[in-house]
Amino acid sequence: MVRRELFEECVSLLEKSGNEDAAFDTTCIFEDILEERHPLFSPLSQVPSDKERTIRSLAERRSEGYPLQYLLGKWEFFGYPFAVGEGVLIPRPDTEALCELAIEICRKEQLSSPRIMDLCSGSGCLAITLKKELPLAQVTAAELSEKALPFLKENIKLNDAQVELVQGDVTDPQLAAAHAGLDMIVSNPPYLTAEEMASLQTEVTHEPAMALDGGRDGLDFYRAIAKIWRSSLKEGGWICFEFGDKQHEDVGKILAENGFENITFRRDLAGIVRCAAAKRSGGPNNGKEGTC
Ligand code: GLN
Repeated sequence: MVRRELFEECVSLLEKSGNEDAAFDTTCIFEDILEERHPLFSPLSQVPSDKERTIRSLAERRSEGYPLQYLLGKWEFFGYPFAVGEGVLIPRPDTEALCELAIEICRKEQLSSPRIMDLCSGSGCLAITLKKELPLAQVTAAELSEKALPFLKENIKLNDAQVELVQGDVTDPQLAAAHAGLDMIVSNPPYLTAEEMASLQTEVTHEPAMALDGGRDGLDFYRAIAKIWRSSLKEGGWICFEFGDKQHEDVGKILAENGFENITFRRDLAGIVRCAAAKRSGGPNNGKEGTC
């Protein structure tokens, strides 16, 4: 079969399944399997029959709602390549807003070799991008999931990034106590609410619940991290969080209650208030109790 014919067949299959990016997804599958950019520049070339079978089976899997990124086994974030697959959250473009905010703060505050810790690192997209963009930074990635860790390790190698890896639970005060003197904490923790977890888009049901489930109101990790990790930051150190749509007021409140100030919010490309940065104030905890 020639490329154009197979392409049209796959696009039509994906369109029938309700996929609004059918041509884009099919192009990604073609590029991956034919190992060529712009495969439709030669629409009349024959697709070898083994590749035709593979392309068709990937398109079928995609039409059942399996994530494109897992089918390809890789995805780009901030211009860097990341290996992905079942067990690790797919890097989202939304998270690039958090990366930009963290980089901007490091530059503005003239932190020449900041100590940065990424909590709930997953694929490592935040930790690795920060290390690539701020080569003098000392970056540590913390992740608990046995299934995510191999991807994180692979991505550190793939990007030739010197990121230190620790396996641990970010809600464990001992992990925080073992990492003092940080200039910055970044985190894209699980933040979906129980209601959202009960009505996930088919694609997202294939992603690890552990990376998505933020407890009843979606805010469990913000409460825990703001309280437990505050004293791991230097005085004047920064915390940068990603969160979900309409969570910014609650996250802002949690930050303020836990002794953070200068809270600034940032929108993602879709216009959603997506992340916040805040500075650790002086004193033990502003004289207040944390709100865990
Ligand atoms: N942005 C993801 C989603 O909406 C959630 C990621 C997270 O919980 N950190 O599916």
